[in-house]
Amino acid sequence: MKICDVCGLPEELCVCEEIAKEVQTVKVFTVRRRFGKLMTIVEGIDEHDVDIKDLTKELKNRCACGGTAKKGQIELQGDHKKKVKDVLADLGFSSDTIEIREPNKKFNKRKSRK
Ligand SMILES: [Zn+2]
Repeated sequence: MKICDVCGLPEELCVCEEIAKEVQTVKVFTVRRRFGKLMTIVEGIDEHDVDIKDLTKELKNRCACGGTAKKGQIELQGDHKKKVKDVLADLGFSSDTIEIREPNKKFNKRKSRK
């Protein structure tokens, strides 16, 4: 029987992952990579609390795209910001803590100040 290091309860009774999903702030944003490819980045997932590989697999399936998980970040090919939020909410993340950052916000703000 596996025991959770965080709460000391057997794994089947442990709710650390559920709690963690509700409290962590997940940031979802897109970046442009080489050759102009858009990538959706999911940041802020705590690898100790959430199985990031499973989550990446689920996101790839639901977004029908390729992707990888590294250093606590998930990278998905293409722009899937909205879909990622839906999937995370379905998986038990609180949608209040999922932050979608629009890449052009800063630029627009600066422009309108004129
Ligand atoms: Zn636990």
